[in-house]
Amino acid sequence: MKIDTSISEEASRFVRDIEGILKGKLSPENRELILKAYSFAEIAHEGDYRLSGEPFIEHPKEVARILARLGVDIPSIVAGLLHDTVEDSHGKVTLEMIEENFGKEIARIVDGVTKVSRINAPVGEGRVKDKIETIQKMLFAMAEDIRVIFVKLADRLHNMRTLEHVRDEEKRLYKARETLEIYAPIAHKLGIHTIKAELEDLAFKILHREEYYKMKALIAEKKKEREARTSEYISMLQTALAKHGVKAKVEGRYKHYYSIWRKMQEKKKSLDEIYDLIAIRAIVEDVRACYTALGVVHSLWKPLPGRFKDYIAAPKSNGYRSLHTTVITHYGEPLEVQIRDEKMHQEAEYGLIAHWIYKERIDVSTMQKWITMLLEWKREVSEGLLGVGDLKRELELDEVFVFTPKGEIKHLPKGSTPIDFAYSIHTEVGHHFAGAKVNGRMVPIDYELQNGDVVEIIVNRSSKGPSLDWIRYAKSPRTKAKIRKFFKERYVEEMAEKGKEILRGISRRVGKGVEEILEDEKLRLYMETQAFTEKELLVRIGEGSLSKERILEILGVIEKRKKRIQKFKKKKTSPLVIIEGLTGLDVHIAKCCRPVPGDRIVAVVSRRGLTIHRVGCKNIKNVDQDKVFYAQWAPDVTGEFLTSVLIEVERKSDIGSIIEQIESGSVRVEKVEMKETPWGTSRAILSTRVKDIDQLNSVISELKKSKKVISVERVMT
Ligand code: MN
Repeated sequence: MKIDTSISEEASRFVRDIEGILKGKLSPENRELILKAYSFAEIAHEGDYRLSGEPFIEHPKEVARILARLGVDIPSIVAGLLHDTVEDSHGKVTLEMIEENFGKEIARIVDGVTKVSRINAPVGEGRVKDKIETIQKMLFAMAEDIRVIFVKLADRLHNMRTLEHVRDEEKRLYKARETLEIYAPIAHKLGIHTIKAELEDLAFKILHREEYYKMKALIAEKKKEREARTSEYISMLQTALAKHGVKAKVEGRYKHYYSIWRKMQEKKKSLDEIYDLIAIRAIVEDVRACYTALGVVHSLWKPLPGRFKDYIAAPKSNGYRSLHTTVITHYGEPLEVQIRDEKMHQEAEYGLIAHWIYKERIDVSTMQKWITMLLEWKREVSEGLLGVGDLKRELELDEVFVFTPKGEIKHLPKGSTPIDFAYSIHTEVGHHFAGAKVNGRMVPIDYELQNGDVVEIIVNRSSKGPSLDWIRYAKSPRTKAKIRKFFKERYVEEMAEKGKEILRGISRRVGKGVEEILEDEKLRLYMETQAFTEKELLVRIGEGSLSKERILEILGVIEKRKKRIQKFKKKKTSPLVIIEGLTGLDVHIAKCCRPVPGDRIVAVVSRRGLTIHRVGCKNIKNVDQDKVFYAQWAPDVTGEFLTSVLIEVERKSDIGSIIEQIESGSVRVEKVEMKETPWGTSRAILSTRVKDIDQLNSVISELKKSKKVISVERVMT
């Protein structure tokens, strides 16, 4: 691709735009860089249009503008311009080209955004495993460079602003839900309030259109009704502050629609009952002035007891700092007042991004904290401690902060109890919890921790572990997951022990020791076909899902099952599989999971005959164990076996050339079924015939190399 170096009028207008937003802070090198990225993106997206009818380039341009308005650094703005060039340029642009032209740093951000964009996070109900995998991929891509998140959030914001142009309703709803479930909570956790609020309102409008407009109208009415009083409060406070020598900007602040609506839903309240709908905010010069201003507020109006919160002394875990107080005004109504300085204000609006606004004060430790947090989530998700639902809840929960006896601060979900605190210190501390002292006094297990509490956990080293009803007292999903995991592991240990006990009984009968039985070749083969580890085998024996008789049969002590197979022996069949040591059997290959030689297989006996399935096929999950036999492919098996591969492609029209590619490798495609996905790609199920698993795997790995293919997997149909 050649980059046109002559500057078009649109390009220079765009750069002037960016300069305007950045208030003329662009150096000649950065100007050049942005112009170059502009031409690059323009060529990459040439001839493509958005669903709104605009040229595609308008999207990256707006994403770059959003980023500039947020005040992030130049590489982020450039990455914003380039963010779709790898994904949406029909192969014209590769990551290598970006690295060549714009360097490693920008290429890395673009790569991260591309990776996140390829992930379609499953929303709503759906397969838990899929959800865990996608969120894992997402966190991983984002944790590599925090700016990936900024660009991705700006991208999502623009897509949400223009979502109404998407005709396909299913796709529209999907995007809105994904925004609400994944992106808004991430923005919240990073403290980026402006983006979080706008994303939520945009998604709210799509998902609950009527409610949204109703809310909007109601609040407009309320605002009008309260305008006079609000401005009276503002000018009263302004005057009082000036009298005490505090320079301040005082303003009214309205909650965004979605947060009010949610509060009404959760608390089952009407709009009239929500009294923090409007708050007054004073932005003062420095931290000292915050406390002076607080005194002024409290001398003006009477504070409501228990409503004062000092988030300056103890910031929220997303970095939020401010003083909050609720007072009763001279009209007798409650009014929330927030006090902060300019830097705290920037941080409250832009969160982590504020550290780029105040460039000279980039706080490496804060950034490191976020990245550590993302990696921590990733670990917990991958260990199965945390599911996507938990993650979402964890991201959204309000927080309470408490202290360890050493004065270390801990943030926990609001409503947390000493149990949550104990598990947040260490899983082992949780497991050996024996009691807790708060501010020096013993408290009951269901005590609700309050801001500022000093909590000391009493452990009993000799206790055998948690009690199942602790789950009722725990608030954090993480605590609950840890307690459940303990009980699951204990169950497994107990069943394995019981299984061993049963094997001991068998050992007397067969005249072999337990260890010898576990090493038995026939038993090993059985475990292999069932994909059981030794532990799993023992658990199944302990649970009783594998009977003593069945084990004796597997060991060849009883031959009842062999006799049941014998009747399927035919003289003229070619050898396909071996079951219970027999070959030359009349078998069918299952149409659901379509096994091919090399797959691990089992045989199922039914009235119609013997059917071969893949190990793990869900159609045989509930079949009586009695009817399932372990099987092996015969060593000299030949023939062609039908199997199915699911591929996802960007464009439906790519399927033809992909089939050609497969067939050039002497594999025949017999049938193609196409389906369009709600997220705008196409899926095709290809039925092909292969000799064995090796041939199938080489087809799949060839397909994976193709740029047109998003994903490939073998399927059960
Ligand atoms: Mn985009």
